Amino acid sequence: MPTKYAAGNWKMNGTRAALAEAEAIAKGAPDGAVTLICPPATLLAAMPESLASGGQYCHPNTSGAHTGDLSPEMLADAGATFCITGHSERRTDHGETDAHVRAQTEAAWRAGLTAILCIGETLDQREAEQTIAVLTEQLDGSLPDGATPENTVIAYEPVWAIGTGRVATPDQVAEVHDFLRGKLGADFALLYGGSVKAANAAELFALTNVNGALVGGASLKAADFLPIAEALAAS
Ligand code: PEP
Repeated sequence: MPTKYAAGNWKMNGTRAALAEAEAIAKGAPDGAVTLICPPATLLAAMPESLASGGQYCHPNTSGAHTGDLSPEMLADAGATFCITGHSERRTDHGETDAHVRAQTEAAWRAGLTAILCIGETLDQREAEQTIAVLTEQLDGSLPDGATPENTVIAYEPVWAIGTGRVATPDQVAEVHDFLRGKLGADFALLYGGSVKAANAAELFALTNVNGALVGGASLKAADFLPIAEALAAS
């Protein structure tokens, strides 16, 4: 059985005042699923030790003249054990290509981090019935050889569902996750991401090939995130 993950992505949100939420998440995290938060890098070293944490991006190199960037070794040094790679906001805002995402993912492994590799189609691509073709191309281009269920978690995040309040339907999620399961085998954890909240979490986690969620907005407050983690642990 794949491991279950309730993963929070705080994006560019949170100053030290937000550490109280991280403490509450650490205290309330249920058994039966891995609960983790990827805060802004400024907060990584201050996160509670009992809560797993991750970076939101890493530069492929270990060190060097890359102003503003962070290497996975630096994230690990600050306490991270995970790193999100290929999030659609990075692909859009920073022009990250599949090849770059692949290099980041390999770098994350080098530093001992588990990569949470994100893939997903745009609304135009879905409406043009290109979803599976797009996901195949992204996976082929960004998932390195050597990926294992221990070093990589896959997050299916339809771009049109991220931060929009528009969650994919269970049928849409099931179609993609069943395809991913067929492509990747029985043991990889497959997360869904896109406007997950307590109200829709249980329905998504009831799907056979959904092993958790990558959650943005609803991970910022323990009161919103813990019920999602609980629904996952109970699934
Ligand atoms: C995300 O940032 O990966 C995400 C899924 O965001 P949200 O839950 O806010 O849609």
